[in-house]
Order: sequence, then structure tokens, then C-alpha cells
Amino acid sequence: MPGPREESGSATANAAFTLSFGENSLRAEVEVPAGQTTLTELLPIIQKLDSAIVDGIGERAKSVGKPISCRAGCGACCRQMVPVSLFEAEALIAWMQTLPEESQAELEQRFHRALSRLRDAGVIDKILNSDWALGEEQATGMAMEYFHAGVPCPFLVNESCSIHPIRPLICREYIVTSPPELCNDPSVNNVVGVRLPVKLSHALFAFGQQMERDPRGWVPLVFLLAWGKSGAKPGDFVTGTGKEVLAKFLDRVAAVTVPEDE
Ligand code: SF4
Repeated sequence: MPGPREESGSATANAAFTLSFGENSLRAEVEVPAGQTTLTELLPIIQKLDSAIVDGIGERAKSVGKPISCRAGCGACCRQMVPVSLFEAEALIAWMQTLPEESQAELEQRFHRALSRLRDAGVIDKILNSDWALGEEQATGMAMEYFHAGVPCPFLVNESCSIHPIRPLICREYIVTSPPELCNDPSVNNVVGVRLPVKLSHALFAFGQQMERDPRGWVPLVFLLAWGKSGAKPGDFVTGTGKEVLAKFLDRVAAVTVPEDE
């Protein structure tokens, strides 16, 4: 995969590149900071790329008569444990700090309510022991236990994502072609997910695995506020000019494979 090509500019620079995945490729031209930046600061570009990939796969599914059934107002899947990369966690915390105090307080209450319900369901203690992430069977069991607790994501408002433009990559990458009502319980229903040949979220997780002793390389979204209090600055882990950081990210995307069952 060729690295991005910088054209010119002092504050920003244009970088053109081709992202190849499976039988597909995506030609993109983006504007990146010309000076020093971090992976967290490049997230808006990564989010747009991810959405473009998912939209392309969705169009393909539609062309073979299997349109994506995910719609605004359907938040059935938003009761799952959501893996958020450390870079996205950093950006979400920074975004929350820009909100008016009353909005921050409301969000904090939502997180506390979610944590409290998960604690009552006996899920919190199990999540805190990250050993479950080491094996596929344990990870699936943990995911189901979390889902069956029925706790909505703190960002879910009226069954719609209240942070849609900046939602985690993993949320963008979860698309299904089966009827939405089946998503109410994927453990018993035959939910037909669309397999993506590339997941940009996994590239961010891979960076996170390098940084932390935690084998996941991500944080469950519901722990976002607690994680934010640690003052971690993961963005600093990948730095350079915009062009350099983008190249490191694209190299990581090329190196990460998506398991067949995802
Ligand atoms: S962040 Fe948004 S899309 Fe993702 S689980 Fe929460 S409400 Fe749903």
C-alpha cells in the first residue's frame, strides 16, 4: 500500500492515497496538518474513511439484493459492549469537556446509571478481569452476558445515537441485512451481519495493544469517564507530521487482518 503523497501547504497539506481491501480499493485525498500532530487529531479523517468504506460495502450489498437494514431510530445493537480505541476515548473525553456543564452532568448521570445497572446484573466485575478477552469463547460469552443485561449505551437517546458524527468506528462497522427486530437478541436470532474486509477500528486497537498491557487495546465505552480520569494521552503514542501519522496508520491498516467470523 503506497504511503500518502503530500502536495503542499504550510498549515495543512493534501495527502492522496489508495486504500486496498479485499477486491476493493478506495482512492482518497485528504487534508492533514502539515506540522506535528497525533493519531487522535487525525480521527476525523479516519472516521470519514471508515464511513466511506462501510457505505461502499453497503452499496454492494444493496446491488445484490441484500440492503442494509440499519436505520436511524433503531438502537437495538446499542446495548452491546462497545469497544472504543484509546484514541477515540481520548477524543470523546475532550469533546465532552467542551459541552455546557449541564450537558456534561446529564451525560455523567447516564454513565453512572449504565454502570449501576451493569453492576446489579453482575457484569461489571467480570469485565474488569480482562482475561475473558484472551479467548474467543470467553469473549463471546462476555459479550452475550453484557447484551442480556439490556443496558443502553449512555449516548443512546430516543433509540438514536446522540454522537452520530463522532461515534466510535466499531459502531459504524456493525451493519446487518437481517430484519432489525432480530437484533433484539443476537444470541437466539439469526442476525446476518455484513463482513467488512477491512476494519479501521482494528488498526486503532492494534496501536492500543502496543501501548497497554491490556491485551484488548481498547476500553469498553461504558468505562469512558473512569478511563478519562486517568489523564491518559494515547494520541502522543503516534506522532509526526500529518503525512507521517497518516502513513503509520495506513501501514497498520494493511497489517491487520479481520477474522473470518467478524
Ligand atoms: S456510540 Fe452511538 S452508535 Fe455506538 S453504541 Fe452508543 S449510541 Fe449506539
